[in-house]
Amino acid sequence: MPDNKRDYYDVLGVSRNASEAELKKAYRRLAMKYHPDRNPDDKTAETSFKEAKEAYEVLADSQKRAAYDQFGHAGVNAAGGPGGAGGGANFSDIFSDIFGGGDVFSDIFGGMRGGGRAQAHRGADLRYDLELSLEQAVGGASIQVHVPTLVACEDCDGKGARKGTSTQTCEDCQGAGQVHLQQGFFTVQQTCPTCRGRGQVITNPCFSCQGQGRIKKRKKLQVKIPAGVNTGDRIRLSGEGEAGAFGAGAGDLYVQVHIKPHAIFHREGNDLLCEVPISFASAALGGEIEVPTLAGRVKLKIPAETQTGKLFRLRGRGVKPVRGSGTGDLICRVVIETPVKLSRKQKDLLRDLDTDLSNDAHDHSPRAKSWFMGVKKFFEDMRA
Ligand SMILES: [Zn+2]
Ligand SMILES: [Zn+2]
Repeated sequence: MPDNKRDYYDVLGVSRNASEAELKKAYRRLAMKYHPDRNPDDKTAETSFKEAKEAYEVLADSQKRAAYDQFGHAGVNAAGGPGGAGGGANFSDIFSDIFGGGDVFSDIFGGMRGGGRAQAHRGADLRYDLELSLEQAVGGASIQVHVPTLVACEDCDGKGARKGTSTQTCEDCQGAGQVHLQQGFFTVQQTCPTCRGRGQVITNPCFSCQGQGRIKKRKKLQVKIPAGVNTGDRIRLSGEGEAGAFGAGAGDLYVQVHIKPHAIFHREGNDLLCEVPISFASAALGGEIEVPTLAGRVKLKIPAETQTGKLFRLRGRGVKPVRGSGTGDLICRVVIETPVKLSRKQKDLLRDLDTDLSNDAHDHSPRAKSWFMGVKKFFEDMRA
């Protein structure tokens, strides 16, 4: 063992009394940064990775850590030293320990964790963002999408070997897909670099896919949108994701629904909201107006003396949800529109009306009245 080794705590960048969690965190950060899969052909990164791994392996083991604290590198590297034989820490064990068996690592490094026999890897799941109009979402639709993906090569049935030839057992790992490397005190199990864990090598690669077994393609798919979907809903198309490597099962495709803003309606859960402008005269006198629904126009009775902002609920004219029962309502909010581009005559009529209303003994403006009362009280309270 060379004596110029760096201090294990320095390697991980932690203090000498770092907790187990701090060690893990520090190692995880370094492992992510220097992992060979992320730094292909980078010797410096590889060295840093090995250094961090060795440091973590020692410090994570309380016995070895104690020996290291007391004797330094000599305490843990000497054969038969504290820590004993058979420490055969195995790569995958360390990672499942660190990452709690989660999928973080396999996501990043393509499933190199979970050692053992070479296994074919299922294709990746894909996500496709689909924009729908409100009408399509409410009524359901069948929509053609083009998804860039990897599909199994037809010429070699996804196997990667030229038609009529077969794969051969990898000589470096004898078909195991894993190789054992001696690293200082430890034996480390790694995915065989020659066959990349498959246990088989292709000697005559397929021309169409260069031996990859998969080719890039924009796949045309017809997606059935069930009526009632909303933004955030996800439609799963089983087996329509990327093809697996070398004949393994395909992943799934998840279609993520987004609903485009609508010119008239605003959706809130299963209810639809819309604003309906009405004239000052209709609001005052009452009457029947036409309002839009997704299924066409319907008539809505407006009572006399309707104020702006009043909500009218049309039961069952909203959205029927995909799941569960209870169709939503259509809620119309009336807004009284101020007339524009008035003629001289119209202006005169309005002035006459206004004068007449203010000379009248009756109170024609309930809102203004309560508002002025409120303002008056506000100033009185301030003075008090
Ligand atoms: Zn191999
Ligand atoms: Zn092929």
